[in-house]
Amino acid sequence: MSDEFELETLALHTGIHRSQFNEHSEALYLTSSFVFDSAAQAAARFSGAEPGNIYSRFTNPTVTAFEERLAALEGAETCVATSSGMSAILACVMGLLSAGDHVIASQSLFGATVNLFNNILKRFNIETTFVSATNVAAWEAAVKPSTKLFFIETPSNPLTEISDIAALAAVAKKAGAWLAVDNCFCSPALQRPLDLGADLVIHSATKYLEGQGRVLGGAVLGKRDLLMEQGVFGFLRTAGPSLSPFNAWVILKGMETLKIRMDAHSANALQIARWLEAQPGVARVHYPGLPSHPQYELARRQQKTGGGIVSFELEKGKEAAWRVVDCVRLISITANLGDTKSTLTHPATTTHARIGQESRDAAGITDGLLRIAVGLEAVEDLKADLTRGLTA
Ligand SMILES: *Cc1c(COP(=O)(O)O)cnc(C)c1O
Repeated sequence: MSDEFELETLALHTGIHRSQFNEHSEALYLTSSFVFDSAAQAAARFSGAEPGNIYSRFTNPTVTAFEERLAALEGAETCVATSSGMSAILACVMGLLSAGDHVIASQSLFGATVNLFNNILKRFNIETTFVSATNVAAWEAAVKPSTKLFFIETPSNPLTEISDIAALAAVAKKAGAWLAVDNCFCSPALQRPLDLGADLVIHSATKYLEGQGRVLGGAVLGKRDLLMEQGVFGFLRTAGPSLSPFNAWVILKGMETLKIRMDAHSANALQIARWLEAQPGVARVHYPGLPSHPQYELARRQQKTGGGIVSFELEKGKEAAWRVVDCVRLISITANLGDTKSTLTHPATTTHARIGQESRDAAGITDGLLRIAVGLEAVEDLKADLTRGLTA
């Protein structure tokens, strides 16, 4: 399958390799290892002289099907699947960087990503400079001779800031660095970073790719030489954060409805964002599909719709935010996002609690901020659920 088909079609038909039983739905290969016909074949598989599966830490047919399908959707040469979104970021960094290398990362990243760069990688002498997601000049100014990687998320979590992928790709290229884009919030249904010049795409497949909050998974996508020769896959098969075939199968089936879900999430989110803007006690609404969003024009150029995540700030701070959380009956109080069911989070005391006050201030995550990952419920029911806490 290739570029001759549209995304909806690729999401249904890519990565299908039928077994001798000619099953219609993709088979699930729950096996840790694969059997060889002879000593010579075992040796040939291990040496790489003969292609084929050896052990599911390296490759597995169900995982391969997931990788092929996601690669087609992102327009990538290669996809390497991982056990979670965080292990995708880890595999990317461990596969491509060495001690002494420098990273420039957006200030507005998923909390665990900030922690990984700030605390863990620092211990291995990989230093990270955090700069504004939206100020391209700040990225240029932060470049050092040792800079190897630019890392962004767009829209960002939880403030939905939009980074200019094409502009940052140009700066990264000039600096001799790779640009990695965490494409979790948009998914390839809304945005394809590689088309805009990014070198690497990162996914938490846990979110919209899977779509129903059932399993964890992740992926790194990009050019074959970057992922296969330069060590991302090598790190994975050696260190072991590989995607389980069961999870790959669940995500593979989830991806079949990606386009339809992303369109529906976006339509619901736009309605909720517009409605929130008119509610008493709401100081600000952050949603890339609203004309009031500071990067509205850039968002319109770069992504198909605003996506499913809306965040908003309560005038009265943490107390007012917690009241909204404590009054919902339909919307789930949970940190996950990208689920068909709506979820609500207070970032300052949950997902972004561990990054500390200073990092939160820098990222603009106030105590009155709430993030809603708008699901596929009827919008009127969601409004009623939020109204209870807003007017309490
Ligand atoms: C959830 C998330 C991650 C981490 O993914 P896991 O699958 O939970 O490890 C990374 N980036 C973003 C933007 C996320 O929302």
